[in-house]
Amino acid sequence: MAEAHCLIFPFPIQGHINPMLQFAKRLVHKGLRVTLILTRYLAKTSPFHSPTIAVETISNGLDDGEPHGFPVSSYLSLLKEHGMASLREALHRLIRCGRPATCIVYDPFITWVPELAGEYGIKTAAFFTQSCAVDYIYHRLYSGDLKIGEEEEKAIELPGLPPLLPADLPSFVTLPESYPSLRDMVTDQFKHIENVDWVFCNTLYELEKEVIDFMAEHAPVKAIGPTIPSMYLDRKLADDTDYGLSVFRPEARLCMDWLNRQEPGSVIYVSFGSLAKLSEAQTAELAHGLKRSKRPFLWVVRAAEQGKLPEGFAAEEVPGLVISWCPQLDVLAHDAVACFVTHCGWNSTLEALCLGVPMVGMPQWTDQTTNSKFVADVWGTGVRAVGDGGIVGRESIEKCIREVMEGEKGEEIRKNVSKWKELAVAAVSEGGSSDRNIDDFVSTLRRLAV
Ligand code: UDP
Repeated sequence: MAEAHCLIFPFPIQGHINPMLQFAKRLVHKGLRVTLILTRYLAKTSPFHSPTIAVETISNGLDDGEPHGFPVSSYLSLLKEHGMASLREALHRLIRCGRPATCIVYDPFITWVPELAGEYGIKTAAFFTQSCAVDYIYHRLYSGDLKIGEEEEKAIELPGLPPLLPADLPSFVTLPESYPSLRDMVTDQFKHIENVDWVFCNTLYELEKEVIDFMAEHAPVKAIGPTIPSMYLDRKLADDTDYGLSVFRPEARLCMDWLNRQEPGSVIYVSFGSLAKLSEAQTAELAHGLKRSKRPFLWVVRAAEQGKLPEGFAAEEVPGLVISWCPQLDVLAHDAVACFVTHCGWNSTLEALCLGVPMVGMPQWTDQTTNSKFVADVWGTGVRAVGDGGIVGRESIEKCIREVMEGEKGEEIRKNVSKWKELAVAAVSEGGSSDRNIDDFVSTLRRLAV
């Protein structure tokens, strides 16, 4: 009897690999054979070892180095040109070894996967790493039902979503001329959607009910998240396939030791993810805003961005720690952390929501604006800091931090966050909404493999 075998093919950036890798672990936990598809360059530069997940590498034509700032459209063309041929080779290799693929769970940025899988009779599942609300907006844009016209300040009404002002929409929608290739990339995700067997969203049904139901009219959408390792949601759910991320990096020890020395509920954690770049002026306002809040802070500033800090700041700020990377899940789960000043990347938003940390949203671009709208106005798990002329000033940052950490509003936000945390744990626990969707997927693959 053949064994069901699922390939997981993420787009090779951190915010996409993390959730798909966690999803892979969940499938392994359900007893499925899983292989991760990585580009050769990534496999070389960030070696991945797992006792339970195999790896197949493919070429993207840049095996010896990916030039910094390489245009996304050229990257996608190269990935198609070289990746298709080497994924084909990998599929043949797996057939020869007696482990043929039953399904490929792929990142929809890699649009050519369904066609290739179809040639081999392999099922496909598109795995969307953004919120269902954002996917739905992109889908409406793709279908031509979302027009951003002259009336710039008018709210957009879409079924299943609250009225959205242009400032709430993803920047690829409102500023197409600034990001033409990225706009194509997010709309092209839907090119082959009618040919895929499943559409997975890294969300939980309870969080985005209405929009999931509307999206389901266009595609076979299933919420399977949050893909946060179960051990962070509930210690009882941890097992040996479920381990944290990069806990052995030296920065991890440094910042966990620092957190251990802080009072419970006292620390502001600040991070803008793996890609966003703040201007020098915005970095300075944030530095002063943190200083004015008079609370200890842990601020992740990537090495390449540290030159933007006000002179002497990192050394002089005794109540704070500036670090180039941290194990974010461990930080958010630490009881010293009381507030997360975040760019509202979707992974960070879900992580804060699931670990019960109130947020101050400072969205920079892409879907972060939409996520911060939901955080502040729909889920009530934080506030959004609004800027003047694109820059959020120090007073506004200080005010937002106080709002989520103090007073009645802070109390309300903490209550909401606890509610969502409980619902997230329930969704991934046995019999929960996401868990059932994963079970259905696994049992269908098992039936197909017989
Ligand atoms: N992350 C981390 N440590 C850091 C910065 C980021 O562990 O110092 C992780 C974070 O937990 C999240 C991901 O990297 O899972 C960032 O994804 P997100 O969607 O929030 O933002 P992006 O980097 O895609 O803008």
